[in-house]
Amino acid sequence: MQFVDLKAQYNAYKEEIDQAMARVIGNTAFIKGPDVAALEEELAAFAGVKHALACSSGTDALLLPLMAWDVQPGDEILVPDFTFIATAEIPAFWKAKPVFVDIDPVTFNMDPADAETKITDKTVGIIPVSLYGQIADMKALQNLADNHGLWLMEDGAQSFGALHNGRRSGSFGQASTTSFFPAKPLGCYGDGGAVFTDDDNLAALMRRLLNHGQAKRYHHSEVGFNGRMDTLQCAITRVKLAHFEDELAARNKVAAAYTQRFQDLPKVSTPAVLAENTSSWAQYTLRIQGDGTSARRDKLREDLSAKGIPSAVHYPVPLHLQEAFRFLGVAEEACPHTRRACNEVISLPMHAFMTEAEIDQVADAVKDALK
Ligand SMILES: *Cc1c(COP(=O)(O)O)cnc(C)c1O
Repeated sequence: MQFVDLKAQYNAYKEEIDQAMARVIGNTAFIKGPDVAALEEELAAFAGVKHALACSSGTDALLLPLMAWDVQPGDEILVPDFTFIATAEIPAFWKAKPVFVDIDPVTFNMDPADAETKITDKTVGIIPVSLYGQIADMKALQNLADNHGLWLMEDGAQSFGALHNGRRSGSFGQASTTSFFPAKPLGCYGDGGAVFTDDDNLAALMRRLLNHGQAKRYHHSEVGFNGRMDTLQCAITRVKLAHFEDELAARNKVAAAYTQRFQDLPKVSTPAVLAENTSSWAQYTLRIQGDGTSARRDKLREDLSAKGIPSAVHYPVPLHLQEAFRFLGVAEEACPHTRRACNEVISLPMHAFMTEAEIDQVADAVKDALK
């Protein structure tokens, strides 16, 4: 069994994907070809924003707004303690200071109340992550940003397609980002990502920055970098985007089937999607309550693995305890909800092509292991 079955997805769209790739290779417009602009228009329409900029990865997407806003060394940026490292790595890479905020233990997303306690006179912005596919509490976070004169940027790497009060991921904050890493809800066949914004000037500046600060060839108005998404990846993503609504519906069905099967498990929490939200189900993640260590969760992983069922832990280590961030000197006891989640979460196979039989196989194995 596959954790994310990219082969089944390819087989389903093979003709369209092969045609799209042949079209790009045939006209050799490998960089900035027509499929780049076409994808950008389709992404913007899907997310309900004015501008989408295709870029080289979800990580580089996070960098572009920081560059455009001229974030300075030592500026503090609030990020969740419980996320993939890129959310905090890019502020640190840009010599700003990531400040780790604890999560709401129900949604696993940034807790706005804890965020408020971490604001100082050096804070410039907030980057909430829409973890596992569910958008964070954007109303509270936008209020917090407005009250303190901060920018807000959604890291929507896991949530493209999700809704929050009827609005799509990508449409929150001054800018929002996503990733097309192959295993993300909308994935390409390599690295890719996008930045979204309604701000015309910000979009124009980021468009130059991701292309060496060029407005006109070999005329450079800013110091930028190469953050472009290549045409082949854009052409592939366009094919998958055309099927994306159907895939979201299929992922929702898988999640509902899992949750129904896990109703009566002792000391196990199924994912809570709040009434104002839909999830794009980047992950289907259970919380396996333990004894304060990861032993019960780890044993479950071993039992699943013995039956050929893959699982994953997103994420085993709070960011404030990562070696890379030791230089920040954050106290070990910080962010207790994150530390607990790291010991308790397990993500199960989740993709749009899972069969009933596979769902049953996973569910039976989980139930057996936790009996
Ligand atoms: C995947 C991911 C990223 C980085 O995306 P890449 O395309 O792999 O660079 C950033 N933030 C979060 C929360 C992610 O899950």
